[in-house]
Amino acid sequence: MNKIEVLNKYWGFTEFKPLQEEIITSVLTGNDTLAILPTGGGKSLCYQLSALLVEGTVLVVSPLIALMEDQVKSLEKKGIKAMYFESHSKSLPLSQQLDNCIYGNYKVVYISPERFTNEIFIKQIAHASLSLIAVDEAHCISEWGHDFRPAFRKIAKIRTVFPDLPILALTASATPKVIQDIKDQLLFNNTKLFQQSFERPNLAYKIWNTEDKYNSAAQILKFYSGSSIIYCNTRKKAEQLAHFLYEAGISSDFFHGGLDSEEKKLKLQRWHQGSIINMTATSAFGMGIDKANVRTVIHMELPRSLEQYYQETGRAGRDGNPAKAFLLFNDGAAEQLKNDFLNQLPTDQELITTYKDLCNFFEIGYGEGNEELFILDFDYFCERYNRNKIKTLQILEQFDREGIFSLNAIKEKYIRIESKCSPAQAIDFIKQQNLITQILELLMRQHPYFFNEITMIEPSKICDFLKLSKQLFWEALEQLQQGGFIRYSIPSANFYLIPQTPREDQYTIRPVLNNAKALYQQKKFKIEAMISFALDFDSCKRNIILRYFGSTPEGVCQKCSSITCNKKLDTEPDFEIKLISILKVKPHSIHELKQKLYFEPLALQIILERLLKQKKIKQSETQKYYWINE
Ligand code: ADP
Ligand code: MG
Repeated sequence: MNKIEVLNKYWGFTEFKPLQEEIITSVLTGNDTLAILPTGGGKSLCYQLSALLVEGTVLVVSPLIALMEDQVKSLEKKGIKAMYFESHSKSLPLSQQLDNCIYGNYKVVYISPERFTNEIFIKQIAHASLSLIAVDEAHCISEWGHDFRPAFRKIAKIRTVFPDLPILALTASATPKVIQDIKDQLLFNNTKLFQQSFERPNLAYKIWNTEDKYNSAAQILKFYSGSSIIYCNTRKKAEQLAHFLYEAGISSDFFHGGLDSEEKKLKLQRWHQGSIINMTATSAFGMGIDKANVRTVIHMELPRSLEQYYQETGRAGRDGNPAKAFLLFNDGAAEQLKNDFLNQLPTDQELITTYKDLCNFFEIGYGEGNEELFILDFDYFCERYNRNKIKTLQILEQFDREGIFSLNAIKEKYIRIESKCSPAQAIDFIKQQNLITQILELLMRQHPYFFNEITMIEPSKICDFLKLSKQLFWEALEQLQQGGFIRYSIPSANFYLIPQTPREDQYTIRPVLNNAKALYQQKKFKIEAMISFALDFDSCKRNIILRYFGSTPEGVCQKCSSITCNKKLDTEPDFEIKLISILKVKPHSIHELKQKLYFEPLALQIILERLLKQKKIKQSETQKYYWINE
């Protein structure tokens, strides 16, 4: 079969997306290949289809462990044999997974970059018959990418056992610096570079400086119909905004990482079907959404980088029809963004003490701890060491990225129980023989150190064991607490923490400190680029983006809100006439006007200034504009 036949047979597609075919050809010819395609450009297909055209296995390095299972399932559905290396407390031992990979005749095998830090793994994988190594989200290799993962830098180690194997690196966004880094770090020779333009000709970038962002969002959504995503920077704001829009008569729902998987699935489904039109969301809404007819993307806050902004706005107008990306910000926004992300970055001292505190918390001695499994009661840890939760979580995530600990959120809810009675009191109480005593008895039996240390339990297990409803369980627990037998608490976040290296305070933490400095510089650079994109109304917004990604733009986009392109301000038809007739009826504040008319802030400002100058209107003490009768 040739490429197009394979595409048709396994995927049911009739043609390649731009550059896919060229990329596959390059890989099959044995070239180290760097493919830069936008999100949704079909990067996965490049290595998946290549896998079917050659003998052996394609090893896919991906940082998105959470998505591997889905990818594998969807390949299996197509009849393509695939697996992924699992690393959680219940997975098979690595050696067994390696055997599966080597002898299992898989076409596609997914793996996380952290594996390459393990020498034994590299030695063993040498026995597999690999045809290609694909590195997905390859920008993670560079400090200049927006999601640096140091483990990516170890991937090239596989060159020592497979010196002649081609590598295919894939990413959606790569500035010239990142491109160079990818080539250097993966030891590319004779790189074939395929890059699709970053231009989105059907997308208009509209930047609004507005104090009242909620009403501006409502204005936009009322005027521009069609599917939309409204990005907020916190879960709470996403929920609040959905509520606000709903009250304003705009049907909407919210999506964020805090929803459980059933809810997420349902909302995604309804979004794809079109029964949810407007979705307020955090950045968690992105991965795996692939809806062609999104007409509008609104950002309620400045994103952290132009990469993020480009990726998120790029979800509008995939069908090629006109689409709009609005960025709403107020005067304090730039300062706020700087504070949020730069001042909150952990200092060296904080990194060092957090590491020490964690080791002490788990009683890990020097040279110990490697690959042991610990359960972290996050709230308790923060309370005990008097730590800021947000920052501590950031530091833990940093440790995870740097391969110090592996951090996995525990899905089942654990609760923390501390005994408050003596064994004698408990035994006496148990004699009563009821539901409440049954629970206490079970706790004592299952946890030999119940009276000496804090016990972490899983309510669902206890409920199953005693055949109890959740409701009864919680009631009983409450009574045990009120009776003074226990104290319980529900930690908001718990993690499995597995040290990836033995404790050697200075030695372990040094690379983290070095990387932290680089990370700081890099974040600062990105935030500054984002801010100057928002504030610069002289240059074409599209061109600022193109230049940032290393292209040399020609002309201007004629669609964005820069002075260069914005010849005709964005308003509803006959805006000025409507405005005047509204003001003639009664005085209006800007806020009230927003609820009646569609206009970009600048358009209103210009007209109001002119009318004020012509002495046709006046501003009242209550900041309302009123018409002066001639
Ligand atoms: P990326 O990783 O580049 O963001 P994906 O690999 O996730 O993109 O692919 C995005 C979507 O495009 C998927 O739904 C995929 O099935 C689809 N796709 C890929 N190649 C083609 C093609 N040649 N024709 C039509 N759809 C395609
Ligand atoms: Mg992808």
